[in-house]
This record gives sequence, structure tokens and C-alpha cells, in this order.
Amino acid sequence: MQRVGMLRPNEILEDREGVLHIDGVSALELAERFDTPLYVMSERRIRNNYRRVYETFSKRYRKVKVYYSAKANTNLSILKILEEEGSCLDAVSPGEVFLALKAGFKPERILYTGTSVRDDELRFLSESGVTINVDSLSQLRRLLKISTPETISVRVNPEVGAGHHEHVVTAGRESKFGIWEEKVVEAYRTALEAGVKHFGIQMHIGSGILSVEPFTVATENLLKIANRVHEEVGIGFEFIDLGGGLGVPYKPEEEELNLDLLAEKVTALYREMVEQYGLGKPTLCVEPGRYIVCDAGVLLTRVNTVKVTPFKRFVGVDAGFNTLIRPAMYGSYHPVVVANRLNEPGEETYTIVGPICESGDILAKDRMLPRIQEGDLIAVLNAGAYGYSMSSQYNSRPRCAEVLVMDGEYALIRERETLHSLLEGQHYPPWLK
Ligand SMILES: *Cc1c(COP(=O)(O)O)cnc(C)c1O
Repeated sequence: MQRVGMLRPNEILEDREGVLHIDGVSALELAERFDTPLYVMSERRIRNNYRRVYETFSKRYRKVKVYYSAKANTNLSILKILEEEGSCLDAVSPGEVFLALKAGFKPERILYTGTSVRDDELRFLSESGVTINVDSLSQLRRLLKISTPETISVRVNPEVGAGHHEHVVTAGRESKFGIWEEKVVEAYRTALEAGVKHFGIQMHIGSGILSVEPFTVATENLLKIANRVHEEVGIGFEFIDLGGGLGVPYKPEEEELNLDLLAEKVTALYREMVEQYGLGKPTLCVEPGRYIVCDAGVLLTRVNTVKVTPFKRFVGVDAGFNTLIRPAMYGSYHPVVVANRLNEPGEETYTIVGPICESGDILAKDRMLPRIQEGDLIAVLNAGAYGYSMSSQYNSRPRCAEVLVMDGEYALIRERETLHSLLEGQHYPPWLK
């Protein structure tokens, strides 16, 4: 397999006579058939990413569960693929629970981790039968007024946070997430006294982490806290959940997360501490979201305009931050290639911009690419996570379509919205005639 532009070679992306193919399907054919912007997801890559995580951990520790973090991509077909793989699911809203149940997940395989959760949401979750991972004492008390679940988990702030941007660091001193150690004991005691029988403990330190160290430091802290609970409250744990945050390299100079090393270090620490503390044999859980779907997705977008100013060379495409918000929101880098000119050398420096009326609407800045013409097809890579799921109708642009490819075949898995989608649910008040 050849390298595609700045791309790291992977099993689904291929250069066939200059044209990007995604698991055997021509990007040009997809754009022609379904129009652009278009998210293309690879079933093969999703399955293989899931299996890699599951196998890497489970060959080192007997009881492992992988919770796919649905917010990265909640398309029903993606959820269904992971359900088939035997994945569990991490949900953060009633909507995600609803979609996961629709896709066939049994409630026992769903863990709900919410923050700022409403009472009616707690009621919905209790009735659905999913396991709730509480984020505050207030949430726990309100939940226990509604029902007494068999199992409760507590999200702990292990004092270590990490991530690719300050917005996605989800533990540590500045974070709104989780319960701090001094309140954790009280949380479990409260649950036990209310009649809860089984317990889990969870953390999630952040997103897009490419090194092993934050995970080992946080795991050690979490297990110390678990031990304190075990000693002071006298309970054991069915599961200990280390959260997500497994990063994927976006920039050419970034190194892949060493999954083997991560699993090796974390399972060794886990086994040793669980044994030392006499915590039994709790299931080890991890919650990757991005890692499962990120490099399984490509965003295809058509070039409308090439505009040369005295200072810049702009390529205006039909996807803006309404379609992919990560560059505008986090300053994220996504690899970009010209899908119909893969075999041409880089000749000019281009900035790829969208149709949104804001100067921050930049998908990729100052990239050396082959000479681009109007009508060319740009492929934004690593777009499978937090792409469609964060898209919007801003500037009153209907959301785009999604297709799934598998071994030379393809199918539409979400229709493009139409202008009529913009009218949905809107009403004039009676006084506006
Ligand atoms: C978002 C989230 C994850 C997954 O984060 P990734 O960076 O996509 O791996 C895991 N657990 C919880 C509770 C989350 O909110």
C-alpha cells in the first residue's frame, strides 16, 4: 500500500492511480453519487480498532470490557457494528442511551456518565436499566430518591488530567467532573446505606492522550482511592473503569499511542494493586471513543473557489465548521489530501476554508498541496470522531450525509438534510400573521 500525501499508511486508505480509495471504494465515486460534504466511515477499520483495544488488554488481564464512548460518533450503524463486536457502551446523555438501545445494546452493557443531570433524566435512566456512574453527591442523593439501583458507580477525580486542549481535560483541579477523594467515601457509604448491592468506580482524565504516563499515574491514584473506600466502607468492586482518552495522531510528527505499552503498564499496575489491596477480581474497563472511530472516517469536500490574495492562497470548499468544528474549536490539525491528485507533488501552500461567514472557518492552514483547481475533491482525514456528532446547522446549512464502506461496497447510513430540515419544529406565534 502506498503512502497518501501526508498520510500514515493504514489498512483502508489507498492511492489507486492518483485517486483516494477508502476500503476499495473510490472517493470520487462516493462524492459523485452522494454529493459533498460527505462523511465516509470504514466498517473494517472500526472493527479492527475495537478488536485491537479489546485484545491488547484482554490478553494481559482476564476480565476486560471495552466501553465505546458513543459521543465520538452516534450513527446507528456505527453503534450496531460495535454491538456486534461485543462492545459495551459509554453514554453521556439520554439521547445516547436511546440510540444505543435502538442499535441493540442491552442496558446491562451501557454505563451512563453524566454531569449536571436532571431528575427526569435520572428517572429515564433508572427505568432503562442502565448502570449509572454518578458525578456528584447531589446527583447520587437525587437518584436514590427516585430508585435504589442494584449497582452504582462513582466517577472519581483522580487529581490528574490530560488532553489535547484545555477544554477536554476532564480531571484535576480546574475540572467540573468527578468526586474528589474526600467525598468519595461518603458517596459509597450513602449508596450502601440506601441498599445498593454492587459497586463500580470510574475515572476519565481527558482526551487525545498519546503518552502512557498520565494513564499510569491516574490509575495508581484511582486504585488508592478504591482501596480507601474498600477499607472505610467495607465494599468491593465489580468493575474498575479507567476511562478513555486514548489518542490518535493527527499531525505528521505525532507518534502513535503505544497501545501495547499502555496495556502492559496499566494491567501490571492494576493486577498488582488489586491483589495487594485484596480488592478481588474486578473487571477492568476502558472507554475509548476517538480511538475506535477517528481514523475510520474521512470527510470529503468539494472545491468551489481558489482565491489568491496578496498574502494567501485560499481554497474555498463546501464544508465549514458547521460540518467539522474541531479545527475552529480546538485549533485541531487534520491531515488533508487532494483526493483526485494523490500522485501529484506538493507545489503550493494553501489554506482550506469553508463557506461560513466567520474568519475562524478554517479547516486546514498553510498546507503544501498539489496545484488545486475548482471542482477538485479534498479529503479531510481522521474525521470519524467528533466530526458529524459535533456538526450543526449554523448559517442555516443542512447537515451532510454519512456513508459506510466495507470491502468495495458502500451504503448511505444517514441522509443529507434538506432545506426543509431547517423548518422542522418551527412555529410562528399566533400574533405574527
Ligand atoms: C468522552 C468520554 C470518553 C471518551 O473520550 P475519548 O477521548 O473519545 O476517548 C470516555 N469516557 C467518558 C466519561 C467521556 O465523557
